[in-house]
Amino acid sequence: MAVVDPTYRPETDEHREAVERAQRALLDSAVEHIVEVVLRADGDIYEAAAPDGRVRFRREHDGPGWRFSIVEVEGRNPLADQAVDRFSPLAEERANAYPDRTENSYPFAYEQVAQLFDAPASPDLVAVHASAHNWENQGGHRGEHGSISVVQARAPFILAGAGVKQLGMIPRACKLVDIAPTVMALLGAEPGSGIGLNGSQRQEAFLARQDGEAQEAILDTAAPPPEHVVGLLLDGANANVLYDLANRGDAPNIARLMEMGVTFGYGAMSSLPTVTLANHTSILTGAYPGHHGILNNAWWDRVQGTQVITNSPMHWISAMDWLDPGVETLYQAVKRAFPGSVAVSINEPCDTGADYSIFGCMRNGEEIDRPPPVEELPHTTQRFVRPVKEYKWSSLIDHTAVEQFTGIWSGHYRGTSWPMPKFTWVNFSLTDAAFHEGGPYSEIARASVQDTDARIGEILDAVQRAGVFDRTAFFLTADHGMEESNPECTGNWAEALDASGVDYRDEGYMFIYVNP
Ligand SMILES: [Zn+2]
Repeated sequence: MAVVDPTYRPETDEHREAVERAQRALLDSAVEHIVEVVLRADGDIYEAAAPDGRVRFRREHDGPGWRFSIVEVEGRNPLADQAVDRFSPLAEERANAYPDRTENSYPFAYEQVAQLFDAPASPDLVAVHASAHNWENQGGHRGEHGSISVVQARAPFILAGAGVKQLGMIPRACKLVDIAPTVMALLGAEPGSGIGLNGSQRQEAFLARQDGEAQEAILDTAAPPPEHVVGLLLDGANANVLYDLANRGDAPNIARLMEMGVTFGYGAMSSLPTVTLANHTSILTGAYPGHHGILNNAWWDRVQGTQVITNSPMHWISAMDWLDPGVETLYQAVKRAFPGSVAVSINEPCDTGADYSIFGCMRNGEEIDRPPPVEELPHTTQRFVRPVKEYKWSSLIDHTAVEQFTGIWSGHYRGTSWPMPKFTWVNFSLTDAAFHEGGPYSEIARASVQDTDARIGEILDAVQRAGVFDRTAFFLTADHGMEESNPECTGNWAEALDASGVDYRDEGYMFIYVNP
């Protein structure tokens, strides 16, 4: 079993004492309104501590996965409630605004904690912010994510089209790491041997490293498998809100996909930390952040003594330099299973192995087309484009996604001829910008879904024009949920940590490295 390498995390009594001092500071009553739980690995024991109790647990191999056993509980077990159906559908979520730690649930919490500490660069402590916490002094907004709570973890998941059962909305949840193996099973790929969740060999793996499970029950195995799969990511789209807007007629193209297939009513759960690139990579590899290497937006490399940043516009182009060579992306797996096939990655930093990627073009020094002036952008809610910088920027970027998709699917794009791709992935960013800005229930969030839905309409039209709509499957998901934060619930824990006298670094407002 992959136990933490002591060269990365010093296991001296002195170090342990400093970690415990930092942990006590994070559990102090002065910051208990903004700290949901503090996580830690101590040898082969994992600990989750909250101001009102803590649990220590251990993991053992169970097939390719893990079985967890509780070693000790003091007070209330902060991770006891792992219900996947909490605060769903939207009316339930809205009736339970700002849930506190005794009302919240933490889907797959033991697994989420354990996977993260497998990474050599994992921190000494993970300070998980409270559900209601508003990061006002770190540029925060009404909508927040990053926590382990159910609303921040819950992404939508719709699978539709060729080879998929038409079940409508089902009262089920899965995980984002289940999506890549599900897509491979849907395409009819032959499983082989690979590495499983617990790091040992597993049979029936669709990817080299496979932490998730193919959701075979929703596949129509009597039908021929699809010839093409198109994956759509709506960054930061709250699942309950998205389903509700589709049901109300505000997102007719997403509603069409829902009618054509299966919608996971309780969503697909994001991996801890529930942040962007860590989870784009989890969707596209079937592996957890602690295993695929894109651990967080930022972390600290103890051995090199350097800060690593992956999720920022400056770093997207080279973010996959940190991808663990033992994982396989969906682009690579599709091309391995179907030799000669083409895989396309649109506006996605996680692009390793794709035949086309905008970041690949940039790495090759190619000139990138400029989008039109924002006033001329189709499918754009102008009243939000003008005042909100992020809305404008994301609208421009997402417009280029449609141009790349329709170009490649027309058979000719940027001077190159393209066969119809076996797998095409499209990353839309506008929903994240808008859901952050106004919160998930805002007008701007709704506008972002409407705009994105219209862009999805263009994508469906392009597949129709290519004449293969009936032989194509689609899936739609997000990288994490988005929770309405409480504007009254502010502050940060830096002061408490500073007062503890411990030397530390806090990376990504979450990963605490003691004596870095
Ligand atoms: Zn995101």
